[in-house]
Amino acid sequence: MNYKSTRGHDVPQTFSEILLGGLAPDGGLYLPQQYPQISADELESWRKLSYADLAYEILARFCDDIPAEDLRALTRKTYTAEVYCNARAGDNTADITPLRKLGDEAGAPLYLLGLSNGPTLAFKDMAMQLLGNLFEYALARAGQELNILGATSGDTGSAAEYAMRGKRGIRVFMLSPHNKMSAFQTAQMFSLQDPNIFNLAVQGVFDDCQDIVKAVSNDLEFKSRQKIGTVNSINWARVVAQVVYYFKGWLLATDGPGQKVSFCVPSGNFGNVCAGHIARMMGLPIDKLVVATNENDVLDEFFRTGIYRVRKAAETYHTSSPSMDISKASNFERFIFDLLGQDAGKLAQLFRDVDTKGGFDLSGTPDYERIRQFGFVSGRSTHDDRIATIRDLSARYGITIDTHTADGVKVAREHLSAGTPMVVLETALPAKFADTIREALGREPERPAAFEGIEALPQRFEVMPADVEQVKAYIARHTGL
Ligand SMILES: *Cc1c(COP(=O)(O)O)cnc(C)c1O
Repeated sequence: MNYKSTRGHDVPQTFSEILLGGLAPDGGLYLPQQYPQISADELESWRKLSYADLAYEILARFCDDIPAEDLRALTRKTYTAEVYCNARAGDNTADITPLRKLGDEAGAPLYLLGLSNGPTLAFKDMAMQLLGNLFEYALARAGQELNILGATSGDTGSAAEYAMRGKRGIRVFMLSPHNKMSAFQTAQMFSLQDPNIFNLAVQGVFDDCQDIVKAVSNDLEFKSRQKIGTVNSINWARVVAQVVYYFKGWLLATDGPGQKVSFCVPSGNFGNVCAGHIARMMGLPIDKLVVATNENDVLDEFFRTGIYRVRKAAETYHTSSPSMDISKASNFERFIFDLLGQDAGKLAQLFRDVDTKGGFDLSGTPDYERIRQFGFVSGRSTHDDRIATIRDLSARYGITIDTHTADGVKVAREHLSAGTPMVVLETALPAKFADTIREALGREPERPAAFEGIEALPQRFEVMPADVEQVKAYIARHTGL
């Protein structure tokens, strides 16, 4: 299995070659040269597999340059009940991603797929935990080391740190705005005592952190000498790891071949739902892929109108589902490539238009007409919708959901069809968003046992001015390179 760029660069790469990299040399994103196809019989034969072995079956089709026994060992080390231990009472933790039925609405069984039972209580652990093990394996094989540099306002940084902690050959330097994260998020990151994790609390806001990361990455000499890398959401291995739980969700929601299931996905950078698209392209019987956004509705606007219009900073709102507050969707290009019949020239032109004109318009074109063939529909929610949905699920089904999942449930309900199971992906647990849960329900969200008293643990971090040179000096001092 080789990989190509969405923008046409045609030096095929193997899975291991693209694992540690980001964009293709032409600025495009990597995709497999063709999507592996899974037959109905194969799918049926997977019903009894553990999550780890299902992950192996799917990943093996995308990375044939890692020996089978090594890959199986990696998935079995990653997807364990000990790592994914934060499920609610009554959920089957052996499933790793337990499926919970809420009820029947408009004749459709409505489910939640629990993707947030990992160490940071959000679905990003599903892919990031595997990435940590894949990186460690690939670096050891190549005799290399990697220093991951990132900026976080909360979620991604903690998922990366929990995935990379204690890994040989890897250090993480994570910049976060000093005193700007919630006490819970701060404690989650700063209580890590692993010597390969470096938390830099920058005296500034999140944008200052991001600017520093950009400045450091633009210093190519420093970047190469210090072996700087990232773990952002365009990483192909992250996307493919997420394909697995669409198969798992389908297997848990059906009992025979050919049955269709719809998925509703709280979306930001389009990484999660892109994995659903790939599962569908592989032959998984998915009816609809429902893209749910919050007030930052760049994706909903595209799926409704064919117009992709990225937002300016002033038009990007801070909402109560903050992990979906995006102005453009970094994985979107992968889907548009398929929508255009994999025409790399046409794709490259559209994304040049994104850079120069702030977007593109496919309305009224045959390309836009094809969107329904790919199963996509969409919707958006507001803060009031989230509050109402959290209240409603608590009253009707006795279950507390977080704000991102509430976006998903709200939009899923607009796309139910009788007889077709609708699976909403639960992308975080409510414990992470206590303020909004208090507003909705007048009480604290439940906290998984492992997080009791986490704010009182000793914290390990370094306060830094928002200064590129000081950050560089700090990195060099701790890598010894
Ligand atoms: C990252 C994130 C999302 C958005 O996922 P994308 O892959 O960027 O579309 C949704 N919900 C939560 C809780 C997240 O952390």
